[in-house]
Amino acid sequence: MKNESCIFCRIAAGEVPSATLYEDEDFRVILDLNPASKGHALILPKEHYRNLYDLDEDLAAKTMVLAKKMICKMKDVLRCDGYNLVQNNEEVAGQSVFHFHMHMIPRYKDDNVGLGWHMGTLTEEDKKELLDKIE
Ligand code: 5GP
Ligand code: ZN
Repeated sequence: MKNESCIFCRIAAGEVPSATLYEDEDFRVILDLNPASKGHALILPKEHYRNLYDLDEDLAAKTMVLAKKMICKMKDVLRCDGYNLVQNNEEVAGQSVFHFHMHMIPRYKDDNVGLGWHMGTLTEEDKKELLDKIE
């Protein structure tokens, strides 16, 4: 299932050139064009899925295994100090390309990569509501 109007389908298929770190029958791993830090890379499945809501379960599992392999190798190459895996679903969550992808963002001591959130406090109402609704 390839979507001709999707840039990541075209990159994953090799129709549009990319800086490819790894490729197999299911995935292409590329360097991000606008890296948050040196070595920021993306895992792209070759099939088109809008995001994690739609992603085939088998590919979801394979994505995590591939992420583990890639960051274990990349951390030695890059000599980075840590790693974030980031995966955005829908615009409000920061998704800008609507073809599932996993970000692998190397972290370096004192880098200015702006990931994070303000920590709130879990209220009793929220806790009760959510535990009641999700079984
Ligand atoms: P999202 O915001 O959807 O989670 O992430 C999309 C990512 O894709 C961004 O980090 C952006 O820099 C990257 N990106 C968008 N278009 C291209 C492209 O044509 N080539 C590459 N290598 N990266 C891209
Ligand atoms: Zn696509």
